[in-house]
Amino acid sequence: MTKYVYDFSEGNRDMKDLLGGKGANLAEMTNMSLHVPPGFTITTEACLAYLREDAYPAGLEPEVEEHLQQLESAMGKRLGDSDDPLLVSVRSGAKFSMPGMMDTVLNLGLGDASIQGLAKQSDGDWRFAWDAYRRFIQMFGKIVMGIPGEAFEDRLEEAKHRKGPNAQDTDLDADDLQALVETFQGVYRDHVGSDFPADPREQLRLAIEAVFGSWNGKRARDYRRQNKISDDLGTAVNVVAMVFGNRGMDSGTGVAFTRNPADGERKPYGDYLPNAQGEDVVAGIRITLRLEELEPLDQKSYGELLQTMDTLERHYRDMCDIEFTIEKGTLWILQTRVGKRTAFAEWIMASDMLDEGLITDDEALLRVDANRLIELFKPVIEQAAKATERPIAQGLNASPGAAKGRVVFSADEAEDLGAAQPVILVRRETTPDDYHGMIRSQGILTSAGGTNSHAAVVARGEGIPAVCGADTIRIDMSTRSFVANGTVVGEGDPITIDGFDGKVYLGELPLEEPPLARAVRGDEDARKEKIWKAFNGLMAAADHRRRLRVRANADTPDQARNARERGAEGIGLCRTEHMFLGEERVLAVRKMIFASNAEEEEDAYEALLPLQKGDFIGIFEAMDGLPVTVRLLDPPLHEFLPDQVDLAVKVARMDERHEYGPEIEEQKTLLGKVGELHETNPMLGLRGVRLGIVKPGLYAMQVRAIIEAAVEVKKAGGDPRVEIMIPLVAAREELRQMREELEPVAREILDREGVELDHLEWGTMIELPRAAVTSEEIAEVADFFSFGTNDLTQTAFGFSRDDVGKFMAMYEQRRLLPTNPFVSIDRPGTGRLMRISAEEGRRGNASLHLGICGEHGGDPASVVFCHEIGLDYVSCSPFRVETARLAAGQAAVGDAESASK
Ligand code: PEP
Ligand code: MG
Repeated sequence: MTKYVYDFSEGNRDMKDLLGGKGANLAEMTNMSLHVPPGFTITTEACLAYLREDAYPAGLEPEVEEHLQQLESAMGKRLGDSDDPLLVSVRSGAKFSMPGMMDTVLNLGLGDASIQGLAKQSDGDWRFAWDAYRRFIQMFGKIVMGIPGEAFEDRLEEAKHRKGPNAQDTDLDADDLQALVETFQGVYRDHVGSDFPADPREQLRLAIEAVFGSWNGKRARDYRRQNKISDDLGTAVNVVAMVFGNRGMDSGTGVAFTRNPADGERKPYGDYLPNAQGEDVVAGIRITLRLEELEPLDQKSYGELLQTMDTLERHYRDMCDIEFTIEKGTLWILQTRVGKRTAFAEWIMASDMLDEGLITDDEALLRVDANRLIELFKPVIEQAAKATERPIAQGLNASPGAAKGRVVFSADEAEDLGAAQPVILVRRETTPDDYHGMIRSQGILTSAGGTNSHAAVVARGEGIPAVCGADTIRIDMSTRSFVANGTVVGEGDPITIDGFDGKVYLGELPLEEPPLARAVRGDEDARKEKIWKAFNGLMAAADHRRRLRVRANADTPDQARNARERGAEGIGLCRTEHMFLGEERVLAVRKMIFASNAEEEEDAYEALLPLQKGDFIGIFEAMDGLPVTVRLLDPPLHEFLPDQVDLAVKVARMDERHEYGPEIEEQKTLLGKVGELHETNPMLGLRGVRLGIVKPGLYAMQVRAIIEAAVEVKKAGGDPRVEIMIPLVAAREELRQMREELEPVAREILDREGVELDHLEWGTMIELPRAAVTSEEIAEVADFFSFGTNDLTQTAFGFSRDDVGKFMAMYEQRRLLPTNPFVSIDRPGTGRLMRISAEEGRRGNASLHLGICGEHGGDPASVVFCHEIGLDYVSCSPFRVETARLAAGQAAVGDAESASK
């Protein structure tokens, strides 16, 4: 027979699955002999069985009765007794804390008979007794029977009104409250159709069922969806002997943290409310005192509380938060758990607890959340403003940080205005053509596109805050404005975006730079702050532990330098398409695209070569001695041409005005070419290695630029370490033939210059399912693989990475997928392809090295996966290098832990 009920003395803190967080910790505290009111926990299994069968599972009722009787004899009181009644609270408590999302009923056991006893217990305090009874009917009616809250609240307001114009709850005397109890019983009868249940055992049964049912309430479901908590866990129910914080000024209730959860300071922190029950604190109707203000009120209880906090922190070896009640000078601990804290506090506490010897190096490393590290570096909206301002739109949190500035609608304007004043570039979506304006913007807001859209990738790469896919925003270029849920925002109007949570605000909200960002910049004052010491210490521990190398995706010397300062050990992806942008380059690129003969094409390459070479020299210098993976051109060529529709409109307007001459002819030729290059499905079209095949001179020019740059750096005494990467390969032959064409180009330069490079490798990206499942043969002609998980995810799912914003939120909401697969590697699908590819690739070539350069390379969960499948490195945007180092260290610790289990 399944055991459904556990006394507090029977459980412990490791039983959260079964007893919920609250029940497990109450049991733990009971066994530590802390002053916890007695009680018992009904398991999550009972809840799940109840929800499945829509009835109490067999055996539950007698078990509850048995534990209730034990509780009665432990307390020496009986539920419902007219002389000395036991009252209980019935509290929900799931495995993960879901604050306020499920139901709790206090003062259960009261009825017309037991109220006599309660008054007696409280030395004839009838006001207290009637108040407890009216609260119970109100709570039971609302929570258990679903009576609308206002039905009671309105009657309470009327009672106060009768008392006097500004009367408070506390002004109602015993007679008023007794009358209110009768009124509430009437409200109950009117709504439920029967009398308020006088039998306390029936009250208990109904309350337990209500708490079970609250697991599936809307609030709870929404919270779980938001916080990625499984629906299958169920809640436990804790039945606890009541203690009262509202028995006068020698009573009260409060919440205490063993350290400050906002800044991590090692100092007790919390709130206290004298003469109150817990619900009064939550309702926020009275101003609470600071915890230390309890000391002069009740020195004994305060001293005991501090001692308990210390005991709990040592026992849990972490910051705990505690709910307590003082009843007539006696301290009771009602709940504890390891407390939530800000990202900042998390680092300070981990470092302090390590110094105090409370935790080990490895534990300290696991105490900080790699997902939140980036929060320490980014400007933030000042807390007060964040709490009061209402957003006008919501998009995806594509790149963290807050930014404010004036709205501009084109990259050119962003470039022009951005030097003089902060601007936010607002676009439907961005393309490589917008790059010049993006990097001049404080922030980027798009109405389309997902977290891996162009705007998002560039923004993260450059460390620019971005909100993408805010699909309630309608941009109207004819009025140069956008509308967001009814608010019209015109060009030049100020807005603020929050890349941490995807919110968009009208106006400029105050921002602040966090101290760690200043410390990393070398600010001596900021380096005296504790966060700097904490950061340095824990990052060193991560570096010491990790097996994975960490590289960066960097396209310019500046980005490369930045990445190296942040600890990058090379470049895992240098995208060369940005080298084709900028006015003079675009002209040369267009000349190459439009060339009608080999000679014209060759001229265009000659113009591009020195420009590319200059860029590579800067990058090799910045990464001297470390590997640099340069990817040959990948995007479809039409991206370097004007938009077809814009151009067609322009030509039509010129025609309308009967313009003639060379300009319109030129525009018409351009339009013709754009039409020729148009593809229905450019992401699956002429891009990647296919470009290299169709335009052989293009890749040859790029290889010349790379090798000539490396030779120059080497001659100047540097140590360039070159890896040339061919994108979007699907078949072995593509890579083999490319190498056959390109290696001689490199060889010729090296021979001519009499220089040898210590490290020159040729490899490919694995971004297509076919490449993944034929990796063994591809590896025979590759020195390395780099997983392009942006495209691999796109092609594995058949989800367009640029359009996924339109439906991904719905997918997440409906739990069609556990997480956005463009953010965290989808282990069963994309991940499986990677695993197969890694295994088979190594079978085809034992010395093959393996990395990842898709956006997932900076996502902690994906880094753990890369560690598991044995990649050699991860590569991510420069601003996520520390995150990846930390996650790689944590993955190694996790590995060691599971090996020792
Ligand atoms: C990828 O596809 O994962 C990748 C890194 O290439 P890109 O994002 O440039 O397509
Ligand atoms: Mg790709």
